[in-house]
Amino acid sequence: MSKLRFKVVEEAFHKKPVEVEEPNERPSEYFAKYVFNREKMFKYLPSKVYEKLTDVIDNGAALDRSIADQVAAGMKRWAVELGVTHYTHWFQPLTEGTAEKHDAFVEHDGKGGMLEEFSGKLLVQQESDGSSFPNGGIRNTFEARGYSAWDPSSPVFVVDDTLCIPTVFIAYTGESLDYKAPLLKSIHAVTQAALDVVHYFDYSAKKVIAYLGWEQEYFLVDEGLYAARPDLLLTGRTLMGHEASKNQQLEDHYFGAIPSRVAAFMKDLEIQALELGIPVKTRHNEVAPNQFELAPIYEECNLAVDHNMLIMSLMRKIARNHGFRVLLHEKPFKGVNGSGKHNNWSLGTNNGTLLMAPGKTSEENLRFITFVVNTLMAVHRHNGLLKASIMSATNAHRLGAHEAPPAIISSFLGTQLSQVLDHLEESTTNDLTSLDAKQGLKLDIPQIPELLIDNTDRNRTSPFAFTGNRFEFRAPGSEANCASAMIALNAAVAEQLIRFKQAVDALIEEGAPKMSAIIQVIRQYIKECKPIRFDGNGYSDEWKEEAARRGLDCETSCPLIFDNYLHPDSIRMFESTGVMTHKELEARNEVKWEMYTKKIQIEARVLGDLVMNHIVPVAIEYQSKLLDNAYKMKAIFAAGEAADLSAENLALIREISEHTAFIKEHVDAMIAARKVANRIANQREKAIAYHDTIAPMLEQIRYHIDQLELIVDDQMWTLPKYRELLFIR
Ligand code: ADP
Ligand code: MG
Repeated sequence: MSKLRFKVVEEAFHKKPVEVEEPNERPSEYFAKYVFNREKMFKYLPSKVYEKLTDVIDNGAALDRSIADQVAAGMKRWAVELGVTHYTHWFQPLTEGTAEKHDAFVEHDGKGGMLEEFSGKLLVQQESDGSSFPNGGIRNTFEARGYSAWDPSSPVFVVDDTLCIPTVFIAYTGESLDYKAPLLKSIHAVTQAALDVVHYFDYSAKKVIAYLGWEQEYFLVDEGLYAARPDLLLTGRTLMGHEASKNQQLEDHYFGAIPSRVAAFMKDLEIQALELGIPVKTRHNEVAPNQFELAPIYEECNLAVDHNMLIMSLMRKIARNHGFRVLLHEKPFKGVNGSGKHNNWSLGTNNGTLLMAPGKTSEENLRFITFVVNTLMAVHRHNGLLKASIMSATNAHRLGAHEAPPAIISSFLGTQLSQVLDHLEESTTNDLTSLDAKQGLKLDIPQIPELLIDNTDRNRTSPFAFTGNRFEFRAPGSEANCASAMIALNAAVAEQLIRFKQAVDALIEEGAPKMSAIIQVIRQYIKECKPIRFDGNGYSDEWKEEAARRGLDCETSCPLIFDNYLHPDSIRMFESTGVMTHKELEARNEVKWEMYTKKIQIEARVLGDLVMNHIVPVAIEYQSKLLDNAYKMKAIFAAGEAADLSAENLALIREISEHTAFIKEHVDAMIAARKVANRIANQREKAIAYHDTIAPMLEQIRYHIDQLELIVDDQMWTLPKYRELLFIR
């Protein structure tokens, strides 16, 4: 082992769990300690202001500027009591992280001194100097400055000495430059459209809520080992590394005992998450070695997205306190499972009904089927777009790989629900003459057992699976902002529910009874969206062929998948629901293509450096040792005997030469290909060039490096190997 590698392995091996200081209170007591939630609003705001603010939060009433000062003053009072000195507008630019710019509360007092100041104006809106955030050209002119504006539906919170204010980030010309603004619009669109449909069944519902429960997968790696891998450090994944002899074959990691250093990290993370009001609930080992998962109780979609962003930054921070680095990349290691983020999504009413859950009466079940079938329709109509919404340079490594959903969107319903839909499709009665309240509704809707909720009929290979009372979108990447997938899904379902209502209303106008009209439209939809339903093995090659026959989007090239955003159907859908304009979609795609190119570009550079600084020198050094040995043999033994004795050595020497020659040649070719691609001005074309020519070279070069790793003396190899990265914790 090289000296450095030996040192980091040795150190990692002997690390002890970090002692976690446990709060004296119970979780229910310290939950949301650092969140300006209703309880604190009530305590720190005048009652009139409290009422107005809750109206803004609950009913989307406009935020009255006149109360902003008082809200800000209350917030400041609360925050200062916690030792807070700064505040920041916290927003989600089109990178995968969050952004913040901290300002101190201090202002001149006009008498040569300072005072703590935080006005409503500063709370509500701020000009942002972040002109270097990706914007796809929207902000290229001087006039197109951006500003961040408070989103009162997500409560402010305190991290360390800073009051964080969740905000949207918008250009002065009105275009959104972040994830939150379109997310809020998509939530508005889907909840409104759903409410209109709910009213066919239940007039008492006043509001529909979109829910999201995310599951976050991640890897932990010891920080010493991590630091000795420049590829992990700079790209988030290993660009080389031969599989360890043992990885996940024995399936002994999944749900296994949590290692003590990791358990300490998790405990620390959970305490801090709960203090920030994130209702974390589930934790376990995942399939791959050193892979874990964390899930909270589901929440309102916008809040859940904020909490996921927050937990990712908490994880990064807390992992370091425990001598780990957290890897959120979708595919940090080749040959073992990658990480995803499962977005469990559903709609519910203010009176507690989950719209995607079966009920007790026929009418409730028709409502349930209505929402399920409309969701399927939306997913069918926009399957290409939904795929685009989860696609990225990093997630591309995971999709279609053996353990992750394929790059084709389909939906799993399970036997029971499939039978219900088949039955409805085949039945011919819409006859509702017996629609008599006393007799109960005689709809031809089969009984749907409530058992469906504990449905164990799971299909882990489906990217969009029905799981009892919700859909689980399993394709989003572990590193991604959940909002991207939720924006597309909410908007698509909103559009679909609007279409549904139009169709039903038209039939009602022609004289059809309401329930009968609903059944007729649903029956037609069940026929129409059939191609999206697939309960078989999504990982199989037969499915790829079958999906192509069904007309589903089977494109696998990331830059081309992004084209779906600019498909006329997508533009119409986003514009008609008020979620995004054509101009915004174009700008966002520019960002997507540019990001794609940059990610591959960085990987290519890092690989080139590693090859020249680590791999080739070590290979040559080992080769000269072998050559030296061959020479000495020749000096000592008789010619024939020496040749025999060193035959194996010579074969090895030749093998090393061949691999190194290939690697060097291809690294040069890759540099040349980059130069060609970099001259392309059009972002889309450039991304395509990177995808078609440079990305495959990374894989080819890697193969030869990994072969060298197998034959070169372990003592000389400088980079920590998979068996060390994955098994030491
Ligand atoms: P599994 O791994 O079996 O899918 P988990 O318990 O890890 O299940 O995660 C399920 C996630 O789904 C949790 O975040 C949970 O709160 C969420 N969830 C449960 N019911 C709903 C629902 N109706 N709508 C949205 N999310 C839900
Ligand atoms: Mg799940």
